[in-house]
Amino acid sequence: MKFATKVIHAGIEPDPSTGAIMTPIFQTSTYVQAAPGDHKGYEYARTQNPTRSVLEKNLAALENGTDALCFASGLAAMDAVIKLLQSGDEILSCNDLYGGSYRQIVRVYGKFGIESRFVDMSNPKAFAKQISKKTKLIWIETPTNPMLGIVDIAAICEIAQSKGILTCVDNTFASPYLQNPLDLGADLVLHSATKYIGGHSDVVHGCVITKNADLATQLRFLQNASGAVPGPQDCFLILRGIKTLHLRVKAACENAVKIAEFLAAHPKVDKVYYPGFKDHPNHKIAKKQMRMFGAMLSFDLKGGSVADATTVLSNTHLFSLAESLGGVESLIGHPASMTHASIPRESRLAVGLTDSLIRLSVGIEDVDDLIEDLRQAIERVA
Ligand SMILES: *Cc1c(COP(=O)(O)O)cnc(C)c1O
Repeated sequence: MKFATKVIHAGIEPDPSTGAIMTPIFQTSTYVQAAPGDHKGYEYARTQNPTRSVLEKNLAALENGTDALCFASGLAAMDAVIKLLQSGDEILSCNDLYGGSYRQIVRVYGKFGIESRFVDMSNPKAFAKQISKKTKLIWIETPTNPMLGIVDIAAICEIAQSKGILTCVDNTFASPYLQNPLDLGADLVLHSATKYIGGHSDVVHGCVITKNADLATQLRFLQNASGAVPGPQDCFLILRGIKTLHLRVKAACENAVKIAEFLAAHPKVDKVYYPGFKDHPNHKIAKKQMRMFGAMLSFDLKGGSVADATTVLSNTHLFSLAESLGGVESLIGHPASMTHASIPRESRLAVGLTDSLIRLSVGIEDVDDLIEDLRQAIERVA
């Protein structure tokens, strides 16, 4: 089945009791048994819910996995992945990642003896030297957030596999339409489905997908034992969002190319971070592992003044100033004070995340209107 068919059909059957074409919202906490242990595969809704099961089958298909596990948020999904480790184990993560992921690794799991280091993954050979005997999980985010760096998933996973180290790719920025890490050798792929997968900024949700039966069993145990499961209504909204995933992401990527080109040519704009540019340091890898270059980009104004950045951030009308990304509507954000405020300033500056950096999540509005919106906001800068 090709991608556009999978989003509509994979794992989805008409409801057997009514023929309803849309998966019903099974808003129930428990299921009646005919006799003790004699049930229809559903006992208690933390453990199993039919709406969630359909969504899990669909998500597994989108990432070419065998099993998907849904969680109440992207960070709840990450929490389950880290619980695969033991105290004393080390997570080796890329050094440019979602602020909340950094916070969970350092401030939640640091307390329980999970060690961590954040390193540059842009060059796999240099990265290989960073692996220690304690390294048990390699955490990859690509494109990275918010600097839009590209990590060579296949190269890093090959190194990890040769040393028996688990790999997890946070694929939120790309979405399953653009990039499928399991095909490139990753053990686990994670999404904040709050973003592109849901796509309508109306639900918080997360998932992990694998094709390794043993990891699936361990994660299934953790999903039930820790209990951060999504409600059926949220699963329904994600299923509904997925049906247009390919159309939305394609349209947003097409808009992003034009916006990146507009910004790069603007006299008041200094750097534009966008993996679709030929002079992006890992453009060739992006081209190899992604279907299109994504709809996220960041830029800095000439002079790098925070006041100038604030002028732009406060004066767009179609680009709404808000956290998050991946919805149909365009968003503008200030990573230093918003999504990445939980990362120490020195660490931010070390990867180029200046106090004046502006991040865009390009939506699917008319691109001429989006460009005009940015033009008038940038023109207000003295
Ligand atoms: C938003 C986000 C997360 C966290 O997901 P939530 O659904 O907000 O918990 C993780 N990784 C990336 C890249 C994100 O953008």
